[in-house]
Amino acid sequence: MAEIRVHKLHKAFGAFTAVRESTFTVADGQFFCLLGPSGCGKTTTLRMIAGLELPTSGTILLGGEDVTFKQASGRDIAFVFQLFALYPHMNVRANIAYPLRAQGMARAEVRRRVEEAAHTLRIGHLLDKPVSGLSSGDRQRVALGRAIVREPLAFLMDEPLGALDAEFRELMCGELRGLHDRLGATTVYVTHDQLEAMSMADAIAVMNQGVIEQLGAPQEIYDRPASLFVADFIGSPSMNLLPFSGRLARGARAVQLENAELAVPELREDGAEGELVLGVRPEHVRFDDASRLRATVVETEYLGTTQIATLTTAGGASLKARLPSALPVRPGEQVGLALRGERLSLFERASGRALRTSLHDAEAARG
Ligand code: ATP
Repeated sequence: MAEIRVHKLHKAFGAFTAVRESTFTVADGQFFCLLGPSGCGKTTTLRMIAGLELPTSGTILLGGEDVTFKQASGRDIAFVFQLFALYPHMNVRANIAYPLRAQGMARAEVRRRVEEAAHTLRIGHLLDKPVSGLSSGDRQRVALGRAIVREPLAFLMDEPLGALDAEFRELMCGELRGLHDRLGATTVYVTHDQLEAMSMADAIAVMNQGVIEQLGAPQEIYDRPASLFVADFIGSPSMNLLPFSGRLARGARAVQLENAELAVPELREDGAEGELVLGVRPEHVRFDDASRLRATVVETEYLGTTQIATLTTAGGASLKARLPSALPVRPGEQVGLALRGERLSLFERASGRALRTSLHDAEAARG
């Protein structure tokens, strides 16, 4: 397998820019997700890596080789689409063997590779069955067999599980990641589903309107979103975003929100003023009678071991708290709110960027 390096990749369709100066590296053996809402440029990025779309500018290196303007057929990459088209009149073996036959590979070698791929995917017992009678999961496995049998340098997958129902999707996520690990593959995986990305990826690029807003490990993106967009897009329910106005000097450790002074991670930049936003994950909101941040419970949603309470603060802001289900919470109840200070994020409202605080110290130390 091989490393993929993308540098300042740019794609315009006429006056419209679909991908803007994207730079990222997918390390050899890494499972890398391009994540973002519909239309943000994920598929266009993937198609450029595959050679199905030519970039307007920028470079793509595959295993150190510049493949930017090389034809798709000349790149040793397997592209897995959402809709797996199998050849219905062929059996499983012939379907998996197809790309090798098309290359004119010797029969014995084709047989060896097909059996190895089937073994890896645990469908060896289906090799001589027609594809028409297979379950949708087995059809997916056959399609994957066709991708892995070529032993390509990298796999590119565009929402491969998009057509599946939720339960089966979760199972296939685990299988895909397991397959990636067994093969020692390099994979670029496109999805708009944050749970899929969070559960499978080693690294995620969160895209918005053609721009990579944040690049990092799933936990890093969840804990330290680099922008309001990322904060809102990642997490379910998403991060509470509470606007406030103020002036913060370097070293500030508290903000004034409505009647309450709230502890926040120490500000590590020169200062900020004007319209700011405090970000707090629902699991970091607690009830605390002593708090001066007052709110009313609007409704609760039972989720098994936890419940989500929707609240409105005295100042009119709306937020959600994830609480233990054992805690009695009644709609209409007046409560005080404590926010877990060391885990809060601060953003500049106009630019949407996260302010640097002590929350980012570990990241800074890692370089
Ligand atoms: P989706 O999940 O909906 O496919 P995406 O993030 O993969 O979204 P892209 O398919 O990369 O998004 O498309 C990005 C933008 O570029 C969209 O606004 C799309 O309409 C536009 N676009 C894509 N291909 C073309 C094309 N050939 N000509 C013009 N515009 C295009």
